[in-house]
Amino acid sequence: MKKRYAMAVDTRRCVGCNACVIACKTENALPTGGFRDWVATEVSGAFPELHMEIRSERCNHCDEPSCVSACPTGASHVGEGGVVLVAKNKCTGCKACIAACPYDARYVHPAGFVDKCTFCLHRVKKEQQPACVETCPTRSLTFGDLADAESAVSRLVRGRRQKVLKPESGNEPRVYFLS
Ligand code: SF4
Ligand code: SF4
Ligand code: SF4
Repeated sequence: MKKRYAMAVDTRRCVGCNACVIACKTENALPTGGFRDWVATEVSGAFPELHMEIRSERCNHCDEPSCVSACPTGASHVGEGGVVLVAKNKCTGCKACIAACPYDARYVHPAGFVDKCTFCLHRVKKEQQPACVETCPTRSLTFGDLADAESAVSRLVRGRRQKVLKPESGNEPRVYFLS
């Protein structure tokens, strides 16, 4: 069966330590100022009933990726397991994909191409976990195949209360935030 890679982010476990951000920078040799993941915090409610949600965010590897439709050169494309990728050699740095992404998940690499999370496909192909997943000290992040109903990520998405970010975008994100 065709794989559909996805991630579940447990917002109840995340402590906002940024280890996922550092792991990604190191693993993927990201340039100064370039990030493929980041930690967002959102406060809701009214005092004294305040709630803070901490989320490790990255590209959502959308099922309907507006970045791919917007890319004039075909550099942005859907690769193995539905992972959204950028072919560096085809990217002209025009930034159409950056404007089209509702999640601000891309940045311009100093070498002139646009870069973003790859779900660490280079590791996944070797049966390793993405660097951020492996590093997270609180095991907030679960990566796997949604096409496999028994995978850990499928079970979490099915069994826990979850949401995706900006569902109204119509992009059908595949990063799920558990609460
Ligand atoms: Fe949250 Fe884990 Fe990232 Fe720390 S490493 S910010 S706990 S997801
Ligand atoms: Fe594209 Fe943005 Fe969706 Fe990632 S989050 S697949 S960059 S539209
Ligand atoms: Fe970075 Fe890999 Fe995690 Fe994506 S999956 S945020 S590329 S470490």
